[in-house]
Amino acid sequence: MKYPKSVDQLISAFRQLPGVGAKTAERFSLHIVNHFEKEAMDQFKDAIDAIQTTIFHCPICGNITDINPCLICQDTKRDQHMIMVVEEAKDLMAVESSQTYHGLYHVLGGVLSPADGVGPEQLTIKSLLERLKSETIKEVILATNLNAKGEMTAAYLLTLLQGTDLTISRIAHGLPAGGHLEFADDLTLSKALEGRTKLTKS
Ligand SMILES: [Zn+2]
Repeated sequence: MKYPKSVDQLISAFRQLPGVGAKTAERFSLHIVNHFEKEAMDQFKDAIDAIQTTIFHCPICGNITDINPCLICQDTKRDQHMIMVVEEAKDLMAVESSQTYHGLYHVLGGVLSPADGVGPEQLTIKSLLERLKSETIKEVILATNLNAKGEMTAAYLLTLLQGTDLTISRIAHGLPAGGHLEFADDLTLSKALEGRTKLTKS
C-alpha cells in the first residue's frame, strides 16, 4: 500500500528540509492533508510563491532581500567603516535584534567545509575582498560561529586580510556552547562584540 502520488510528493518535499527525516515528513504531510483548510493551504502556497519570485541575495553583502541593494546596504546612517562578517542571514538577524551593532555586514552564505565540498568559491569571499578594496572600511569583525568550522573560516579570512591596513577583530568567547550567534541572548552578544579581540596591530 502506498500513499497517493501527490501525498508522496509532499513527503519528498518536506524531506529536503534540514533535520526532517522520513517520519517527520510523513507527519507534516498527513497533518496538512487532514487538518489544513483552504486558507492555510493558500498561506503555504503564497508564501513559497512569494519567496520564489521576490527574494534574492543582496549583490553587495549577500544578505537575503527583496530590494536591491538590501535595506542595510542602503542605510547611510549606519557606520560605513565597519563590516561584520557572519555565516548566514540568521546570524545577521540575531545581531540586529540585539541592537548592539550599527555597522555594515557581509553574509558568507556558509562556512568552509572541505568535506562537504564548500571551499572559498562557494562562499561570498570574492565579493567581500572586492568590497574591502573599494569601500571606506577600516575594521572587519570576523563573527563566524565559535566552533571548528567557524574558527577555520575566520582563520582563512585573516590570512587573506593580513597585510592590509584594516583592523581585523574576532568576536569574543563567552557565547553559548558551540558558539552559535543565533542562540545567544542580546546581552551575551553585546559582550562578545565589546570584548572582540584585535587580530591585527593597526
Ligand atoms: Zn546588502
